[in-house]
Amino acid sequence: MFQTEGFLISEHGGSEKLVWTPLSLPDPGPEEVKILVQYIGLNHLDLWVRRGVPGHKFPLPLIPGSDVVGVVEEVGSSVQTILVGSHVIVNPVLSCDRCNACFSGQHQLCDSFGLLGETRHGGCAFHLVVPFRNISILPTSYSACEMASFPLVFLTAWHMLIGRAQLRPTETVLVHAAGSGVGTAAIQIAKFFGAKVFTTVGSPEKMKKALELGADYAFNYQQEDWVQKVRELTRKKGVDVVIDHVGKDTFPFSLKVLAKGGRLVTCGATTGATVEIDLRPIFFKGISILGSTMGNRSELTTIFQLIEKKAFRPVIAEVLPLSQLAKAHQLLEQREVFGKIVMEVTKE
Ligand code: ZN
Repeated sequence: MFQTEGFLISEHGGSEKLVWTPLSLPDPGPEEVKILVQYIGLNHLDLWVRRGVPGHKFPLPLIPGSDVVGVVEEVGSSVQTILVGSHVIVNPVLSCDRCNACFSGQHQLCDSFGLLGETRHGGCAFHLVVPFRNISILPTSYSACEMASFPLVFLTAWHMLIGRAQLRPTETVLVHAAGSGVGTAAIQIAKFFGAKVFTTVGSPEKMKKALELGADYAFNYQQEDWVQKVRELTRKKGVDVVIDHVGKDTFPFSLKVLAKGGRLVTCGATTGATVEIDLRPIFFKGISILGSTMGNRSELTTIFQLIEKKAFRPVIAEVLPLSQLAKAHQLLEQREVFGKIVMEVTKE
């Protein structure tokens, strides 16, 4: 065991449930590494872990935080590929590497699939212990702080657009909630693959930022009939792919706005998980509804290679000291931010 400190969630609730605590954690096993955490990117997942989800059991007490950048402080006895002192970035997807899904490279479908900060202690602490297979050498194209904004949302958006929807150049994509982490990633990935991108946002400021990021069109869903606008702009055809993590509020409209042969990919349901669906457009238009959770290791490697070439850029709304984690959660909950919040770990 070793001694450290971090935020521990012992029971679900408001941001007051994020409690800074002295921690006694197990030393790294033979195939694990211990990391001195420098930066943690926050995700919507952090809010679910803190608040709790009806019908779902999180392994409390738990340290939250999925996107970690840091320095390797200790390696397990079997680890030969990572050196102490290496600057690294962590893949938040935990998989067994022994089941059929893992053997076929589909780590997101692993029998023992898990996520850092959700099913195992995450990075909102001074130290983190993870399997060495989850570690990559930190790309140098951006700062360590900026790099912490990438993994979870880019892997999610990449797997939705490429792994599941099999996006092709010249296709059209609608990205809901452009200011969210997944939204900012999906816009950039869709543009990288040559697609035309439509987005929905909740304010004029976010419209401007979505367009700056590369979206071809941005609609304020609170003021505009975006379904009508998208239909006009696509000559009544509709879009080929919809990226939806909003759920209840957008799902019926997402189906309406899809073209023949269109694909709706869902990875979340921030406004509610139960929706009523009109089946007729699904069979008449040959629509596919695709579920997606995270992605596989090969996809993340490709993403890091593209980040190294600056094909994508970090979109960071705020950088705050880790001590202000509660404030960061509140900002994320109020949906005031465009892009990611990154926590900086500074040891007094
Ligand atoms: Zn597996």
